[in-house]
Amino acid sequence: MIMLTPGPVQTDARTRAAMAADIAPWDNDFRAVYARIRQRVLALAGGDPQAHACLPVQGAGHFGMEAAIRSVIPAGGEIIVAMNGAYAERIVLLARGAGRVAHVWPVPHTRGITAADIEAAFAAHPSATHLGLVQSETGTGIVNRPEVAGSVLRRLGKRLLLDAVSGFGALPFSMADNPECDAMVFTSNKCLEGLPGIAFCVARTAALAPDRAGSWSLDLHEIWQLALRSGWGSFRFTPPVQALAAFDVALDLFDAEGGQPARLARYQRNMALLYDAALGWGLRPVLDQGEQGPIIVTLHQPQGFDLQGFVDALKARGVLISNFYTTQEPTIRIGCIGAVSNAEMARAVAIMGEVLSVRREAA
Ligand SMILES: *Cc1c(COP(=O)(O)O)cnc(C)c1O
Repeated sequence: MIMLTPGPVQTDARTRAAMAADIAPWDNDFRAVYARIRQRVLALAGGDPQAHACLPVQGAGHFGMEAAIRSVIPAGGEIIVAMNGAYAERIVLLARGAGRVAHVWPVPHTRGITAADIEAAFAAHPSATHLGLVQSETGTGIVNRPEVAGSVLRRLGKRLLLDAVSGFGALPFSMADNPECDAMVFTSNKCLEGLPGIAFCVARTAALAPDRAGSWSLDLHEIWQLALRSGWGSFRFTPPVQALAAFDVALDLFDAEGGQPARLARYQRNMALLYDAALGWGLRPVLDQGEQGPIIVTLHQPQGFDLQGFVDALKARGVLISNFYTTQEPTIRIGCIGAVSNAEMARAVAIMGEVLSVRREAA
């Protein structure tokens, strides 16, 4: 099976093989592995060990986003969320659920944010302290470039909270180069190509404060303090040890491939193979070529399209895509990420073309 989903993604057999063992999280051998993972992740995020910390949270990406929101924004504090997709909506829900004030700043779903968007948003809500931004919107595939927001935020003295879940590892971002960023969040899965199970928050430690989170489980300050007290190999709660062991291997494979630039290049090629083929099939992409990011391609469903039927027919031929969409209009969502080579993508694209033409003839 070739799995083309934007999370959980297809993984390498060597990564999955690392899970076939029982592991005790407090065992000194594993503590060293975990401490090393945190160091590697911090370095990948461009963190400065004097100023930033890698603070993992067990669970899905949303758990990490909630912990970051709770830990850097005080109760009753205000965040503006640049709204150009389904995942931005989730930042709003998480912030409001945590008792923070979330202002929605609408941005068209078909383009990335601009400096003018940020400027206008903070002019309208001057008491907001943070911008919530999704780097790669998995709803449409749009990319918001945090560096576009950065210079405006620094000038205004505002802070950034970055959902980097779907792009981190492929799309570049450096905490040290973006001092306006209080926290960025990503997971063991998606572009780092590990198994799901843990969210990584890389946070500016000066942005954390005790007793702010209003949740003992999702408190980054508490996670940081435990690391200072008991070491970077220690956990507060039972971790997904097998997923972490696999993640260490996934990071080795990431390095061996050539790191972020190589991964981005492979995904970009996967995306281009699919995007160009879709135009040939007469399917209309949601995004113009210039706005199309490398993580996921969404295509408008033709009139009367049977999505589940298409998904089932593809699956019977060895290609798995999502059977749902998170855009406003009906779309077909196809991931370009994960341990999927350009050759596999080309094969999957050929199969999609065949299935589409068979279904058209039958219709
Ligand atoms: C996948 C994803 C998340 C997190 O999803 P979980 O299911 O909670 O892991 C958050 N933001 C974006 C942009 C994503 O693509």
